[in-house]
Amino acid sequence: MTEPSIFTRILRGDIPGEILLETETVFAIRDINPQAPLHVLVIPKTEQYRDVTELAAGDAPLMADMVAAAKRIAEEHANGEYRLIFNNGASAAQSVFHVHAHVLGNLPEDRLIGF
Ligand code: 5GP
Repeated sequence: MTEPSIFTRILRGDIPGEILLETETVFAIRDINPQAPLHVLVIPKTEQYRDVTELAAGDAPLMADMVAAAKRIAEEHANGEYRLIFNNGASAAQSVFHVHAHVLGNLPEDRLIGF
């Protein structure tokens, strides 16, 4: 058995983390190291997929659930508009291999172009 991911441990309540949204399939937490005024992670409850490539190939409806959750977060915590980022692989800055989307919102003017 592999260890549960940090996100699964937050979902289970084993380590602290405020859950902003929870559905049957996904949940959302604030990133511990925010890179924007709104920086939330949307995470499938299953750990089955390590990145968005695997997720898209294996369960497209679950990916749609993630996007719908991102939209809800942006509506509740920003103006409904948001940037959605998936890091895929260590050299692309992925550090947790339980697929998750970064939802960024309330971006300042100088962050609107580029990354
Ligand atoms: P990645 O680099 O894999 O795309 O994103 C992982 C994210 O998880 C990072 O932005 C990091 O700040 C966040 N993170 C890591 N550990 C924790 C934690 O214990 N709690 C929360 N809320 N976020 C975490």
